[in-house]
Amino acid sequence: DDQLQRAQSLIRSIPDYPEPGVLFRDITPLLADAVALRAAIDAMIEPFTGTFDVVAGVEARGFLLAGAVAIAAGVGLVPIRKAGKLPRPAASVDYALEYGTATIEAHDEIHPGVNLLLVDDVLATGGTLQAAHSLVRELGGIVVGTSVLIELEALAGRALVGDVHAVFRA
Ligand code: IMP
Repeated sequence: DDQLQRAQSLIRSIPDYPEPGVLFRDITPLLADAVALRAAIDAMIEPFTGTFDVVAGVEARGFLLAGAVAIAAGVGLVPIRKAGKLPRPAASVDYALEYGTATIEAHDEIHPGVNLLLVDDVLATGGTLQAAHSLVRELGGIVVGTSVLIELEALAGRALVGDVHAVFRA
């Protein structure tokens, strides 16, 4: 609809950021627009309405979306953080990056049997969301869905993550 089109028009593409050859999708203009933000958040939630008790956002841009999703859907929020940021991590998962590895961690508010919606801003290679799935499973949580604002289709992240709801594809 019109509001989602407005949201899409507010995603900015920045060439050669953070390194040469990368076309970076910048969602900050969308976040700054009340109508676009509301439409984007509602579209991220819509297929999963009523199915989840908690939303988890992946550091750092995933936090911004997860906070809005939590209030709009009437559920709680848990952060999935980069290593070393949480005082009492209950689980941690290492995963491969293009150069090197990274680790994500969560607290035990992701408890056994909780129905959880996983959100992030961009699905690229899928490594981050695949690791987030493992983390939730390690704590006994149930990922009822994965929702992203933008899927970069050329990077085929869906092959790693499985079923993902993307509001926009690029
Ligand atoms: P992946 O693990 O390769 O799928 O990368 C996904 C992670 O990198 C997400 O947490 C995104 O925030 C970030 N990311 C990758 N590409 C972009 C981009 O073009 N814009 C914003 N974030 C990106």
